Amino acid sequence: MWLACFLAIVWFPTLSAQAQNESVRVIAFGAHPDDCDLGAGGLAAKFAKLGHKVKFVSLTNGDAGHQSQGGGQLAMRRRAEAQEAGRRLGIEYEVLENHDGRLLPTLEVREQIIREIRQWKADIVIGPRPNDYHPDHRYTGVLVQDASYMVIVPNIVTDAPALRRNPVFLYYSDQFTRPQAFRADIVVSIDDVYQKKIEMLDAHTSQFYEWLPWTAGQLDEVPKDPNARKTWLATRPIVVSNVRPEWRDALDRRYGAEAARIQHAEAFEITEYGRQPSEEEIRNLFPFFPTK
Ligand SMILES: [Zn+2]
Repeated sequence: MWLACFLAIVWFPTLSAQAQNESVRVIAFGAHPDDCDLGAGGLAAKFAKLGHKVKFVSLTNGDAGHQSQGGGQLAMRRRAEAQEAGRRLGIEYEVLENHDGRLLPTLEVREQIIREIRQWKADIVIGPRPNDYHPDHRYTGVLVQDASYMVIVPNIVTDAPALRRNPVFLYYSDQFTRPQAFRADIVVSIDDVYQKKIEMLDAHTSQFYEWLPWTAGQLDEVPKDPNARKTWLATRPIVVSNVRPEWRDALDRRYGAEAARIQHAEAFEITEYGRQPSEEEIRNLFPFFPTK
């Protein structure tokens, strides 16, 4: 038995340390077309740059997120924006047909998520925590959480073969504190791809230049010129992705002396429900940290 384990470690180091694939395969879920982008656009850009595979999935079609448009016309517009955002980053972007503002944690949507994760052969799955001001975000968190064991159960969603290894499931960062605050387990510097993240967000014209400024009463502050408004976007608090003080420990741990210079970052918490990666596996799954 000992010999078998020893041989497995010696002869199949990538299998033991990595996952079901040669390259890392990441799938991220958001409630709306732009949610994944805000939480993990920088991370996705870093993976894509290294040739790894990333897919963003919006569980709703975003057909309620505008002050003067709605329904099928808005859904079409937002799907096109999401496709453009994915194209700018070199990742896949899928928008499901569930209605915006009406998402519920149903069996049907859970099975859509299980199917997506399996078909993508995901090593890493990202979703929101189930504590949030927006019911669609909250239920996206519940739905991804509810899929996180079922992806390895062959008798569930039999048209998509079950995964042999449970992926690592991550939460995006947030600032909600009840019932508990977000814990920064993995913090990735996005300084090298920050402009790429802005390019991606810039594709969501209906959101960052129309709907969100309107909800904040700042519609008249949005510059008309496309370049000027992109510069303006890069300074918005929701976008800027500055390192938060509570992320510093995780940054120091993985970046050492470089950590102090990092300005923009994205942070993730490892959920309790997927595979629990060792430190070695984290470094294989996130090949961005300097080697010591
Ligand atoms: Zn959202």
